[in-house]
Formats: sequence, structure tokens, C-alpha cells
Amino acid sequence: MNIYREISELQKELLEINQKSSSVGFVPTMGALHQGHLALIEKAKQENDFVICSIFVNRIQFNNIEDYEKYPQTENKDIELLKEKNCDIIFIPTEKEIFPNIDNFFFNFENLDKVMEGKFRQGHFSGVVKVVKCFFEIINPDRAYFGEKDFQQLTIIKEFAKQNFPTIEIIACSTVREFDGLAMSSRNVRLTEEERKVAPFIYKTLKRVKEKKINETVNDIKQWVIKEIDSQQFMSLEYFEISSSLTLQPIEKWEDSKNIVACIAVFVGNVRLIDNIIIEN
Ligand code: AMP
Repeated sequence: MNIYREISELQKELLEINQKSSSVGFVPTMGALHQGHLALIEKAKQENDFVICSIFVNRIQFNNIEDYEKYPQTENKDIELLKEKNCDIIFIPTEKEIFPNIDNFFFNFENLDKVMEGKFRQGHFSGVVKVVKCFFEIINPDRAYFGEKDFQQLTIIKEFAKQNFPTIEIIACSTVREFDGLAMSSRNVRLTEEERKVAPFIYKTLKRVKEKKINETVNDIKQWVIKEIDSQQFMSLEYFEISSSLTLQPIEKWEDSKNIVACIAVFVGNVRLIDNIIIEN
């Protein structure tokens, strides 16, 4: 397994890989790796000759400087985990290496960024697509792997790649959860013991939403979720939406869309967690 910190060094190996016509799978991450990330690596290993994982905490996608500064960094452990998974290449660039390659390009999100994460984290998706564009240009993989855990991000990247990198296939990977249903997240380590105990309530609530769909209206369920989450100790709801999983626009009635996803963002103490559940596909 080779580790590169410079674009030019990485590209030398990529050139050799290209000359052999081998396929390349790319897994972008911000490090502090857990089983959710490793599931992406495993899938990429199954489907490609070479797998590259990047670790880069992308400052320009953070709307909250404290969240950025407190973002966990565990580089040595990450390298060990990737070695165990037989990842072929790790790319760990510095900002100095990446930022000069980020251009001020404009992507028309077509309203995909006006809701949920985009609404509450101003500039977040613009920062995400800028860095993804930069990595896609450097690596030009055959396939890139993204988690359903960040459902809105996945939807935006699919649209972004369709318009700008039509040869790169975007592969979605299911959310990996802890034994008690909590979606794995690098931020989970920041929860206190007591907060960690209540955090699985988020996914429990999402599962109830799916059950309730049979005989309750969209609006009734939304009101119910607001009450449920806000009545929990340590929890404060930022948003809960029931939306089309294609356009991400909120629906008012179940008949409004055939593809439905419920998405949630909750502060558990100071830690902001997101999760989602597919209601209908
Ligand atoms: P991050 O390091 O948080 O930027 O995540 C890197 C990639 O891993 C993104 O595509 C995420 O959606 C994905 N990911 C994060 N957590 C999970 C999880 N619990 N299950 C599956 N994929 C995940």
C-alpha cells in the first residue's frame, strides 16, 4: 500500500495503473475512519483493480469553524485500518496541495441544495462539490463510492457527476450502523457517555416513521417527530423532512412522490448528527 501526500507523486502511480488499463475505484473521506468507511473500501475492492482512499478534512465545506476544529483526526489508525482492508493507495494531501487546484466554478444545483443540509449549512455543498471536482480531476477514477448516510450529498454528487464527469460512475453504499441502530459517524466519538446512550433514539424514530406511514398523514408524522425528538434529554431537532428521494423537495401528501426518503438532523448535546430512512423506492 502506497501513501502519497503530493499530487505529482500520486499521478506517477496513476499513470502506470492507466497504462495497464486497470480500473480505479475512489473512496473520498475526511478520515477518522469507521466501519461505514471501510464498507465503501470493501465494495470498491470487489469492483475495481485498484482502490484509492483519500483523507482530507475539507475546511471549505464546514459552515461552523468549531465543528471543523473539533473534527477528529486519527491518521495513524486510519492507515492501519486501510492496510487491513488491502486498500492500494492512500492520498493524504495538505491544504497547500489541494487549495490552489480548487477553482471558483459554478454548479447549478437545481434546488437540490436549497433544503435540509444546504439550508442549514450555508455554503456546505458548494465546498463539497469544489473539493470532489478537484479530486475527480486529479484521480479520474472509473467509479467513486459515497454513503447513503449522507443522502443529500449522494444525490447532489450523482447529479454533479452526470453533468461534469459522465465517465465516472457514482456508487451508493448502504448506511452502516452500530449494534443499537445509531448510524456510524466520525462525530459519534464526540458524544458523552450519556449522549451516546440516547443517540440510537434517532434511528428508532425514523423506523417508527416508516411504520406510521400506513395510516398517518405526512404532516401528522412531522409533528409527531418534532415532539418525540425534542422531548428527549440532550436532543434538539434541527430539521425533519419527508421528501422525494429524487428531487429532495418536501412532499405534502404520500401521493406526491413514488420515491420517498425521510431525513433528519439532530443536535445531541453539541454534536450534530444526521440520518435518513428510505420510506418508498
Ligand atoms: P466522511 O468522512 O464523513 O466525509 O464520509 C466519507 C464517506 O463515507 C461519505 O461518502 C459518507 O457518506 C460515507 N459514510 C460515512 N458514514 C457512513 C456510514 N455509517 N455508512 C456508510 N457510509 C458512510
